[in-house]
Amino acid sequence: MKKSPLRSTLSRAIRRPFGGSDRPHHLMMSKYCVVPSAVAASLIGQHMGVDSLTGFVMALGASWACLAQEDWASADRDEEEKRKPGNGHYYWLPFGVLVSHRSWISHGLVWGTAIRLTYGFVGLPWVLLVIVPPLGIAWIVGAFVNDAGHLLLDV
Ligand SMILES: [Zn+2]
Repeated sequence: MKKSPLRSTLSRAIRRPFGGSDRPHHLMMSKYCVVPSAVAASLIGQHMGVDSLTGFVMALGASWACLAQEDWASADRDEEEKRKPGNGHYYWLPFGVLVSHRSWISHGLVWGTAIRLTYGFVGLPWVLLVIVPPLGIAWIVGAFVNDAGHLLLDV
């Protein structure tokens, strides 16, 4: 599908500092998303009224989740069968068979993130959300911010 002129201009402007939207560029973007993830989790923790230690742990958790999301449950995981084996290739094969690349399931910011958190981490973030809400929230925030960065490069 051909991009509109506005979308092409936007796409070029966003990709320019990263040099493209391939795997190395997404990994670089993920690193840039660590600080926004930590800040977002801290602000949410502050809004929830958690103590400063819990807020700090939320910031660390969101930072880890941001990097883990791109490393393990990236929006491009639906293409794993086309890549060389390694880093969970076989685990993600069924996902790649069922989900088409850049569909709303793989690259949808809300549903795509939720589905990949569920499949990739065997639902653990949702269990944490119920058992230890600050950690569950931190995980989800980190994954969400990373996916937002990923999708920005894919515009
Ligand atoms: Zn992508």
